[in-house]
Amino acid sequence: MGLIRAVFDASFRQGSARLKPVGPRWPLLLFHVDTGGCGGCGMELEALAAGGYDMQGAGFGFASTPQGADVLLITGALTYAMAPVLEAAWKAMPTPKGVICVGNCAIDGGLFPENYTIMGGLNRKVHINLRIKGCPPTPQEVLDGLCSLFGQRAPAAAYAGASSSSTSS
Ligand code: SF4
Repeated sequence: MGLIRAVFDASFRQGSARLKPVGPRWPLLLFHVDTGGCGGCGMELEALAAGGYDMQGAGFGFASTPQGADVLLITGALTYAMAPVLEAAWKAMPTPKGVICVGNCAIDGGLFPENYTIMGGLNRKVHINLRIKGCPPTPQEVLDGLCSLFGQRAPAAAYAGASSSSTSS
């Protein structure tokens, strides 16, 4: 267990480049990995990607492969089983690249404390460019957080009821 953590930590810290500012590649492409948790945050991301929140208009999209992504977007508490998957995705991404944690589980483990199967959240394990708190954060909160990377305001949601942000970086 300790070895897995050490390899994982070293890999991420070596590649802990800051997120690039809005640059030649637009939109900013996110590669999502769900490392555990209940799956609720992943469902919110699916709602965000569905189109009603104008994610694409705000300059963000999802990449289908890590090779085409700018940012590794992580949901769920990290399990030992998923650590190699996450590491492989990170290594496959071109540089510069960054890490965004969506949901409390990805940040600090949330409802899932460390045990023999769970490493917990990514706090103190890797450099995190953006934390979007919540259990789960709403699609609008996720979009607000993404837009905050560049000092932008998120577009108004087409869906009624989507509201305020609870993000930190
Ligand atoms: S933060 Fe909440 S909704 Fe998201 S994966 Fe964890 S338990 Fe599920």
